[in-house]
Amino acid sequence: MTEPLRSRPDLCPGAIQVHRAADGGLARVRVPGGHLGTGQWKALAGAATELGNGLLELTSRGNVQVRGLPAGAEAELGARLTEVGLLPSVSHERVRNILASPLSGRDGRGLVDVRPLVAELDRRLCGTPYLSELSGRFLFTLDDGRGDIVGLRGDAGVIPVTADQVLLPLAGVDHSLCTTLDAAVDGLLAVAAAFLDERAAQGSTAWRLTDLHDGPRRVLARLRHPALRWSEPGGEPFPLLTDHPIGVVPQAEGLAAVAVGAPLGRLTRAQADALAAASRGTLVITPWRGVIVPDVPGAEAPGVLATLSSHGLIVDPASPWLGVTACTGLPGCAKSLADVRADAASTLAGATLAGLPVHWVGCGRRCGAPGGEHVEVLATGDGYRVTAGAHTWSTVDPGDVIEKARRTA
Ligand code: SF4
Repeated sequence: MTEPLRSRPDLCPGAIQVHRAADGGLARVRVPGGHLGTGQWKALAGAATELGNGLLELTSRGNVQVRGLPAGAEAELGARLTEVGLLPSVSHERVRNILASPLSGRDGRGLVDVRPLVAELDRRLCGTPYLSELSGRFLFTLDDGRGDIVGLRGDAGVIPVTADQVLLPLAGVDHSLCTTLDAAVDGLLAVAAAFLDERAAQGSTAWRLTDLHDGPRRVLARLRHPALRWSEPGGEPFPLLTDHPIGVVPQAEGLAAVAVGAPLGRLTRAQADALAAASRGTLVITPWRGVIVPDVPGAEAPGVLATLSSHGLIVDPASPWLGVTACTGLPGCAKSLADVRADAASTLAGATLAGLPVHWVGCGRRCGAPGGEHVEVLATGDGYRVTAGAHTWSTVDPGDVIEKARRTA
């Protein structure tokens, strides 16, 4: 009999705990807040080329994957990451899952700049031995008030309601748990510790808050931190926003951020090099599998955008590539029943999706599925089964998928 998914230990890959896939080792490098210095970005691109298959994969948590690693290459990868500060804690490397509003503090939106909170949370998380027991899937979210991150349903989140007061949603739901901005990281760490306490009390190996029986309510009941206040047992989930910046975004003082997308979440070495060349010191990976080049002089931003477009990066908000995602599929994943990336790419020419999220998967594990409603295209071995809302149909021709999905959804 198959063991229930959440009763197994979490095998989520890390930079050191490499997953052996059909195409070699797969390393996932956590990037809290998605923030990378140019030197760190170049180190990742170099590692992908010299140790792996040459591609950088961007994940829906703003992390970076290197794959195609030969056996034993993880030692060299670890040394390279350590040298550039991307592996600050061996014991906690898989639990540094921290999403933050990518443009926080730069474009004038949001109530607070959450970048200092990202750094503080990462430092204190890595400094708390107990929290190394979190699964590699437990997610912290830091939304700066604009609502772009909170809907991603992190296990422990923060969203400000004023410049000095924050809500702490649990699993993306507002439970009226609140505190001051100064105590926001205290609150996140307290929620994470309470999750582990409740998990132990239930004799569970739960990966995430909602995997626990009555998880959010029981975790709330365990919170004793003096800075935390809450009044209601349950509330409404925050909505998932799907309108993300692509193109030139104005910043203060004549600067601009250039936001681009990576087709199906993958970057070639040439694309990675083009982004490094465009960088003014920092690059920000987004949870929607894109990269932002911040702090570009405004007059230069259109030229930077054009250069990145010439390398095949997505620069048009109307591009059919936006909203289309796919799991690894064949040949990288032995479980897959199809080369879902190739099939997804082949259907995109001329497609008009109007922002419809479509996710292609090679098997029922549904890796990388986006949060919220989307069209699922599931490989069956002799074609695909497509699910759009209440509608399901099968097709042997991948070329049918997008047009039918668009008409149905
Ligand atoms: S959904 Fe299935 S085929 Fe796709 S990456 Fe996950 S395990 Fe592999």
